[in-house]
Amino acid sequence: MNEQKTVHIIGGGIAGLSAGIFAQLNGFEATIFEMNQKTGGVCSSWERNGYSVNGSIHWLVGSAPGTDLYDLWHQLGVIEGNTFHNHHTFIVYKDIVGKDVHFYTDLNRLEKHLLDISPEDKVPITEFIRGIQIIAEADFPLDRSFELLNTWDWTKIMLRNFSAIMEMGKFNAISIKEFAQKFQSPSLRKAFEHFWSSDMAMTFFLMQLGYASKGTAGYPLGGSGKFIEKLERRFITLGGKIAFGKKVKKIIIENDTAVGIITEDNEKYLGDYIISACDGHTILFKMLDQKYINPETIDAYNTLTTFPSLIYFSAGIRRTFEEVSSSIVGMNIPLIEPIKIGDYTHERASLQIYNFDPTLAPKGKTLITAMLDTDYESWKDLYENNYEQYHKERERIAKSMIASLEVYFEGISHQVDFMDTATPITYKNWTGNHKGSYEGWLPTPEANKIKLPTHFKGLNNFYMAGHWVTPGGGMPPAAYSGRDVIQLICKKEKKYFKTLDT
Ligand SMILES: Cc1cc2nc3c(=O)[nH]c(=O)nc-3n(C[C@H](O)[C@H](O)[C@H](O)COP(=O)(O)OP(=O)(O)OC[C@H]3O[C@@H](n4cnc5c(N)ncnc54)[C@H](O)[C@@H]3O)c2cc1C
Repeated sequence: MNEQKTVHIIGGGIAGLSAGIFAQLNGFEATIFEMNQKTGGVCSSWERNGYSVNGSIHWLVGSAPGTDLYDLWHQLGVIEGNTFHNHHTFIVYKDIVGKDVHFYTDLNRLEKHLLDISPEDKVPITEFIRGIQIIAEADFPLDRSFELLNTWDWTKIMLRNFSAIMEMGKFNAISIKEFAQKFQSPSLRKAFEHFWSSDMAMTFFLMQLGYASKGTAGYPLGGSGKFIEKLERRFITLGGKIAFGKKVKKIIIENDTAVGIITEDNEKYLGDYIISACDGHTILFKMLDQKYINPETIDAYNTLTTFPSLIYFSAGIRRTFEEVSSSIVGMNIPLIEPIKIGDYTHERASLQIYNFDPTLAPKGKTLITAMLDTDYESWKDLYENNYEQYHKERERIAKSMIASLEVYFEGISHQVDFMDTATPITYKNWTGNHKGSYEGWLPTPEANKIKLPTHFKGLNNFYMAGHWVTPGGGMPPAAYSGRDVIQLICKKEKKYFKTLDT
C-alpha cells in the first residue's frame, strides 16, 4: 500500500517548483498542475530569430556562498553548473540633467562618485551609503519559515540586528521618490526619482545595493530559461510529476479541509495537501470564493499597490557593443522624445544590453531588452476592442526604443534582426498574474507594514506560496515561500524537514 501523502501544487513557476522539490525531498508525492506547456511562469525565456529572450532574471540574490539564500539555491539545484556574472554597477544613468550617474556596487567608489557630482549633497549621500552598509550587514535567518521561529529565536535576531532594524524602520517609512527630494543636485534628484519604481520604500533600494555590494546579486549566464530548466530537472529527478496544460479552476473543500482540485477540463484530482503557487487574487477571490479569508487580508488585496504592468521590449541586434560596460539593471537613457505608453509617459528608459551573455544571441550579435511600466486597463481595452491598434501600439513602442538608441549607437536601426514587445496582456495570459503584474506587491511603505498569510484559520491542508505572499516579490521570496509551506506541512505531519537528498 502506498503510504506517501500527496501534495498537489497549482502553478509551475519558481514557487511551485521549489515547493515540489522540497515535497519530494521530504517523502511526499508531489504533482505540479501547470496551465502552460512549460514551467517558469514569469521567469521564462523565449526564442526569436535565433536569440533567446531573457524574460526575467537580471540579478539573483543569494548567488554567492555564505548566505541562507545561497544554500537554498544550492538545495534547489541551480548553483552547480551555472556561471554567475557579477556587474560592477547597479544602474547607469546617461545624461541625466547633463551628467552620467553611476550606481557602482563598490560603495567607496559610489560615495566618491556621488560626492564628485554634488559635494553640497554630502549629508544625504552619507545617509544613503551608511544605510546600505548597515542593511547589508543584517543577518536575518532565511532558512526557516518565520512561523517556526520561537520567542528566543526572535530575541536573538533582534539583538544581533538591532542597528539594521532601526535603519530599516527609518527607511521603510520613506519612498525612494521622497528620499530623492533631499538632494540639491538636479542630476542626483532625477536619478533617484527614476530608479525603477520609485514609490517603493527606500529600504528596498538599500537592500538591493547591499546585496550587490557584497557580490551576491549575480546574473546566471543563460538567463531565465536555463535557470528554470535546472529547477525543473531537479524536481523530475527527485520523482516529481508535472501535469502540463492543466488549468486549475477550483479547490475542493470538504469539512473545512482542502481535499483536491478541479481543472478546467472538469477533471478532479484528490490530494492530501493543496498548495497554491499562482496568482493570489485568483486564489482568494475565485478558487476560494473569499471564504476563510480574514477581512485584513481582503483589505490588503484591495488596497495595496502591485508592481506596475509591463511592456517588455526586446530586440536582436547585429552588433557586439564592446564599448558598453554592463550593469545589473542596464543603461538608463533619455528618449529622443517622451513616449506615452498607456497611462504612463516615459522620458527615459533602462535598456539591458546583454553583451555579457553571449549564450543569448548568435555570434557577433546581442540581445537588448527594456522594462517599461504601463497600466493594465488601456491595454486590455485595446486588446479586446481594437486588436489592430493593439499591435500598432506595440510596433510604435519598439520603433521608438530603437530610434532613441540610435543617438548612442549610430547605425543601430539598420542592424535589427527582430524587435518585439510583450504587453500586460501577454503577462496576464501567460502567467495569470493580477493585471499582468510581474512581481506581485510593490514594497511601498504601506505594504511593508503588512504580513500576508500563507494559510487561513479554519481551512486545513491549504497553503499559499509565491510572489504574492511577500511584498517585494522576486525570485528569492518565490523560492523560500515554496520551501516554507513544506516546512509547515512537515511540522503538521511530525516529520523532520530535509533539505538535501542524503
Ligand atoms: C522582466 C522581469 C524581470 C525580473 N527580474 C527579476 C530579477 O532580476 N530578480 C528577481 O528576483 N526577480 C525578478 N523578476 C520577478 C520574478 O521573476 C518573479 O517574481 C518570480 O519568478 C515569480 O515566481 P512565482 O512562482 O511566484 O510566480 P509565477 O512566475 O507567476 O508562477 C505562477 C505559475 O502558475 C501558473 N498558473 C497560474 N494560474 C494557474 C492555474 N489556474 N492553474 C495552473 N497553473 C496556473 C502560471 O502559468 C505560472 O507558471 C522579474 C520579472 C520580470 C517580468
